[in-house]
Amino acid sequence: MADGTSSFSPRPDRYGAGPRPVIPQRRRSRSGPRYVVVTGGVLSGLGKGITTSSIGRLFKCHGLSVTAVKIDPYLNIDAGTMNPFEHGEVYVLPDGGEVDLDLGNYERFLDIDLGRDNNITTGKAYMTVIEKERRGDYLGKTVQIVPHVVTEVREWIQRVANESQADVCLVEVGGTVGDIESMPFLEAVRQLHTVEGDDNVVFIHTTLVPKLGAVGEQKTKPTQHSVRDLKAAGVEPDILVCRASEPIEDSIKEKLSTFTGIPAGAVISAHDVDSIYEVPLLFDEQGLTDYLLGRLNLPRGDPVKALAPWRDFVRRVTDPKHAVTIGIVGKYTHLADSYLSITESFRHAGAASDTAVSIEWLNAEEINQGTPSALEAMGKVDGILIPGGFGARGAEGKIKAATYARENNVPLLGICYGFQLAIVEYARNVLGLKKADTTENTPDTPDPVICILPEQMAVTEMGGTMRLGASRIAVRPGTMAHRLYGSDIAVERHRHRYEMNPEYVERMEKAGLVYSGRMADRADNIPIMEIMELPDHPFYIGGQFHPEFTSRPGRPNPLFLGFIEAARDRMLGVKHPKNVESRPAEGAGVVEKTT
Ligand code: GLN
Repeated sequence: MADGTSSFSPRPDRYGAGPRPVIPQRRRSRSGPRYVVVTGGVLSGLGKGITTSSIGRLFKCHGLSVTAVKIDPYLNIDAGTMNPFEHGEVYVLPDGGEVDLDLGNYERFLDIDLGRDNNITTGKAYMTVIEKERRGDYLGKTVQIVPHVVTEVREWIQRVANESQADVCLVEVGGTVGDIESMPFLEAVRQLHTVEGDDNVVFIHTTLVPKLGAVGEQKTKPTQHSVRDLKAAGVEPDILVCRASEPIEDSIKEKLSTFTGIPAGAVISAHDVDSIYEVPLLFDEQGLTDYLLGRLNLPRGDPVKALAPWRDFVRRVTDPKHAVTIGIVGKYTHLADSYLSITESFRHAGAASDTAVSIEWLNAEEINQGTPSALEAMGKVDGILIPGGFGARGAEGKIKAATYARENNVPLLGICYGFQLAIVEYARNVLGLKKADTTENTPDTPDPVICILPEQMAVTEMGGTMRLGASRIAVRPGTMAHRLYGSDIAVERHRHRYEMNPEYVERMEKAGLVYSGRMADRADNIPIMEIMELPDHPFYIGGQFHPEFTSRPGRPNPLFLGFIEAARDRMLGVKHPKNVESRPAEGAGVVEKTT
């Protein structure tokens, strides 16, 4: 395939030591975006998203700007309607796009903000084409999957890449090669290669190299077949990324090379590592960065310095001094992908506080029923996180967990629904409003402390939707939230319908709860509460937003960092000086609008 690539050989040594492989530079270079297209074969769940993100991080380490497009071959327009327990978490972007969780991996690995156009679904592609057809844009032509849908997808990728002005656009084709659903997308990336030219497009195919039995041989046949399927679709892979439990042996790389025509040096072993954040280093050590930069004729940064900050971050993730256990209270537990951004936020906060975070899944229904094993598990954790959620199932258990954390000085972080339920808990057990609830669960509660505001109701009844995306929060000086954010303004992402009822704000504050943040840019000036905290508690904070979507390696979200530090201090037996900062100077519930 691509001329020049066959002379590539893997780098014999690590960065900075010994000879470096000679990568032939391309004659032609240009300033437009390069494309790195990642496909997947053999089976799903191979970690294509991590492969894509890790490759992006390598470019980024060499000073290049990167954007990413995820293609999901399903008919849903977006992930907003999809069950997180089936499909993994719904990730929310600043523009309110509800997207596949892989976009979260891209944002975290690349430290960028993406938009809804960075996620193409079959539904979006077809809808765009059908809308054009209805408008008469096709001038009487017969509208077909090929060429119309395929061209739409290809142009969409190019548009996103060009508008981002990034040096490199990663394109991850979801699904598995050979699936009917993926065919139009493979055709779109094949065309992308034709239109943009071989110098500007690289194909990476991720596959599985299984090992049968404990001492068995690494098997190449599934990869051989998968590459054959890919070639049949007109896509010639340049690089193979092979998932395996242990490093792919050199003889197996040679064998794969013989059967696929890909140089052995471009067969990369993606064996199991302790942390996903190690994957860029694993790829780099096998010469992948050099290969990609050479193949795409892109400048490289200082080979020693380029990866140093990332290496440092990985060291802090994998080798921390302390360890805490955080309980996550959920209606379903054990499905880590449904809370992916939360668990990653723990890693970022853990790296910054020298603390390994392990998770104990606490079953909300069992806590509500008082099941001894569940209560015992809750009694052992160093901190409790109540995540976002919808509906009555598990809600009472989450409220009980909030009571337990409040009464026992256990650090608590409430996210979205967790914020709302912590408020319900306070209303019931401190204000004595025994029947207080969110109207989501009890529409006729006498004390609707959480409700849909009348202004919002009009929108909701028209089929309208949730408050989605990033908005600014005015953080109240003198509070713990203000100390953590270190700013009068925080920008966080939302995905919810219900709000703290403004009519109860004053009573709640008189009873001791502090609202330390509120929506900053509200034209009608209705006070929308965004953050709550308890002054006489080591750490008890809830936010109406999702702090897990803004946490990044090296830049943990402040609430997560504060939470993990509080849990660590509790575990270490550091006598916590209570949350003394949380004594706002102003009167109850009043925060000046900052803009
Ligand atoms: N169910 C709540 C609401 O709609 C909380 C949503 C969430 O946690 N994302 O407001």
